[in-house]
Amino acid sequence: MIQPFAGTGEKKKVLLALTAVVRGERRTQFLVATGVVIHQNRTMQSCPHLSAVTRANFDRPQNTPDGCEECLQMGDQWVHLRLCLECGHVGCCDSSKNKHATKHFHRSKHPVIRSIEPGEQWLWCYVDEAGAEM
Ligand SMILES: [Zn+2]
Ligand SMILES: [Zn+2]
Ligand SMILES: [Zn+2]
Repeated sequence: MIQPFAGTGEKKKVLLALTAVVRGERRTQFLVATGVVIHQNRTMQSCPHLSAVTRANFDRPQNTPDGCEECLQMGDQWVHLRLCLECGHVGCCDSSKNKHATKHFHRSKHPVIRSIEPGEQWLWCYVDEAGAEM
């Protein structure tokens, strides 16, 4: 059973998500959710959170456009940035030592983040451990 979006490391998730979109044998399907086309793998359990993402959610303003909210307060550094599609919180990724995006999920229960790195268009649902590409 191919489960290209299941995994533990965030880097692995991204690589697999991209692979799933590029390679035909991954059998990507296309969900249209209020104007947003999401590529999702058929073997993945359906995730209501990703299916409900709208263009407005995806493009929502960032609370702290200069970087990770908590790292900025602490004067600390991050590797990559993730945006909470529920509230606009900007947090650092799991490759960053503080992992503020994941901590934000555990605190707030907001399920879906997106990458706000240049050129990256993927989303991730913490609840279902499911990924998607815009
Ligand atoms: Zn979900
Ligand atoms: Zn941080
Ligand atoms: Zn949030």
